[in-house]
Amino acid sequence: MNLLSVLEYAVETLEVKHIVVCGHYGCGGVCAAMDGHMHGVVNHWLQPIRDTADFYHDELCTISDPDAKLDRLCELSVHDQVNSLARTPIIQSAWERSKDLRIHGWVYGLEDGLIRNLKSG
Ligand SMILES: [Zn+2]
Repeated sequence: MNLLSVLEYAVETLEVKHIVVCGHYGCGGVCAAMDGHMHGVVNHWLQPIRDTADFYHDELCTISDPDAKLDRLCELSVHDQVNSLARTPIIQSAWERSKDLRIHGWVYGLEDGLIRNLKSG
């Protein structure tokens, strides 16, 4: 089952009302995407993070602390994932039919146990 069929099942059959995209600070995946090495088959999963990093290159360059830079990239990655989810035909069609469905972008802090709500809509 791919991600889009899971999404369709959740929206059309289960009629979920909230979809949460939750990243976390200090993410090894985000770190691996930025370390300049190739990671075999997982490159496929890391590429969207690299695309996000490229897109926000100017902003990320202003952050000198490497950990803070990666944490900001975690937030931007969640932000972009919420936007690409919202653009899928499944979500677009649900909203066109006025379905009560919201997408939330969260980033979880492993160090303080807090969830930051970046975006809801
Ligand atoms: Zn992670």
